[in-house]
Amino acid sequence: KIPFEKIEPAPKYRGFHTLDWKKCVGCNFCGQICPARAIEMTWLEVDGKMEKRPHPKVDYGRCTFCQFCVDVCPTGALGFTEAYYLSTGGSEEDLELFNWVPIHPDKVRELNEKFGDYRFPVEKIEKKADGTYVYHLRDGSTIEFKILGYGIRPPKKPTPTKPTAKTAEKKETKPAEKKENVKQAEKKEGA
Ligand code: SF4
Ligand code: SF4
Repeated sequence: KIPFEKIEPAPKYRGFHTLDWKKCVGCNFCGQICPARAIEMTWLEVDGKMEKRPHPKVDYGRCTFCQFCVDVCPTGALGFTEAYYLSTGGSEEDLELFNWVPIHPDKVRELNEKFGDYRFPVEKIEKKADGTYVYHLRDGSTIEFKILGYGIRPPKKPTPTKPTAKTAEKKETKPAEKKENVKQAEKKEGA
C-alpha cells in the first residue's frame, strides 16, 4: 500500500546508486559493462568549474539494478544503497528523477536514516533555462551543477568565429543601400 506502508529490503539490497564525484576518475568502466546501456558519461560544471573527468548518469528507465557497474568501479566511487522506492505523479517534470547523476553516499545514508522509508533521496530535479540542474533533496538542501556535454571526450568550448571579409561587407550594407542595389540590378536586366 504505497506510500502508506513500507517493505523492509533485505540487507545489502541493490537499490539506487551513490557516487562520490571526487573519487570518480571518469574511466567509463561502469558504462562499458552496463548490459542495459543505462549509463551515459556526463560532463559537469560545479561552482563555475568543469569537473576534470566525466561522471556516470544512470537512467532508471533502463537500469536492471544488477550493480555490475558498482562491482567494476576501480576506485569505489560508485556504490549503491538499500533505498529502492521511487514513485511520482507521472508529470513530464517528474520524469527527470529517473535519469540522474548519483550523489554522495554519505548524504544518501543520512537521508535514509532521517526518513527510514527507503525513498529516492531527491524530491525534485529542477532544470533552469541556463542549463543549471538543481537537485532538491528530501531534507530541503540542494545540489546545483550544469551539464556541459556527454561522452568520454571533454565537450568543445564554442569558439567565436571571426567574420570573413564577405560577411563583414554584408553586415555593413544598410537596408536602404540594399534596396538601391536591387533597383539598379532590375534596371540592368530591363536594358
Ligand atoms: S564511477 Fe567508477 S567505473 Fe564509473 S567512471 Fe567513475 S571511476 Fe570509472
Ligand atoms: S546496475 Fe546494472 S543495469 Fe544498472 S546501471 Fe549498473 S550495470 Fe547498468
